[in-house]
Amino acid sequence: MSAKTIDGKAFAASVREKVAGHVARLKDEHGITPGLAVVLVGEDPASEVYVAAKHRQTVEVGMASFEHKLPADASEETLFALIDKLNADPAVHGILCQFPVPEQLDERRTVARIDPTKDVDGLSVTNAGLLATGGEALVSCTPLGCLMLLRDQLGDLTGKEAVVIGRSNLFGKPMGQLLLRDNCTVTIAHSRTKDLAEVCRRADILIAAVGRAEMVQGDWVKPGATVIDVGITRIPHPDKPGKTKLLGDVDFAAASENAAAITPVPGGVGPMTIACLLANTLTACCRAHGLPEPEGLTA
Ligand code: NAP
Repeated sequence: MSAKTIDGKAFAASVREKVAGHVARLKDEHGITPGLAVVLVGEDPASEVYVAAKHRQTVEVGMASFEHKLPADASEETLFALIDKLNADPAVHGILCQFPVPEQLDERRTVARIDPTKDVDGLSVTNAGLLATGGEALVSCTPLGCLMLLRDQLGDLTGKEAVVIGRSNLFGKPMGQLLLRDNCTVTIAHSRTKDLAEVCRRADILIAAVGRAEMVQGDWVKPGATVIDVGITRIPHPDKPGKTKLLGDVDFAAASENAAAITPVPGGVGPMTIACLLANTLTACCRAHGLPEPEGLTA
């Protein structure tokens, strides 16, 4: 079998198009413009690239983008004063603090300071709890993106055996909760899982979020499975000196022999993350104004 390659870039573009359509209607019918505030502390080059991409895509879908840069030595007091201001600002519907933050700051305390109804990264204890208990959560963007890709590929996920490798708060745990909500039978595997290959072989849906290049071998994949590769490892490019190349957690060529569909790295899950950040901002805006949530853009 030669698997279908899932085009995350094209799907993310379709999500952004849907978001843009909703944003235009919100403006026309209600005079509301959804707003996303991004806070960057320090000058981490990778973070600056992400923040620039978020700003560009936010503006492209017609939302207001508010960028706040604080110096690398900013105190918690300064950061929290800014977050408090954004929490109180009715033009801001989503707040994201770009991680990692410099070491004098604490990620958990920072996330906890953000109003959960504006926590569009879905990282707060409140949103994790709402997701786990079937409430109205804002869901972490990358797992939400994976869920959208899976629903698009497979339709109803009811009864599927799903295996998620990785149990982080950012990805593995919310991904497991989302699959459970969609009536999958879920296994969350991790570094202490015994006979990981055998566990993976039972998966109709196999999701790898580890960060170890090509650890998932072709014969770990059940024939006909849908494989979602979340992992990203950057290595020196074998043919282009001075350049780097991205590798996923799955041996793409070998897994394609067994899978029915598979996401590539790059161009699979990656582009979905910012698209879902925009979807979450729109959802937060609709909820803040007591309007119906955008269909197909939530969990
Ligand atoms: P993380 O917090 O480092 O978690 C990695 C998980 O992998 C842990 O649960 C760990 O298990 C598990 N693990 C490590 N070695 C393993 C092994 N040999 N066998 C089985 N499980 C193993 O990472 P994360 O934040 O979830 O991210 C995971 C990967 O996804 C990274 O490559 C990251 O760059 C990528 N990612 C991509 C996007 C995107 O595309 N936009 C977004 C988020 C993450 P223990 O808990 O037992 O240590």
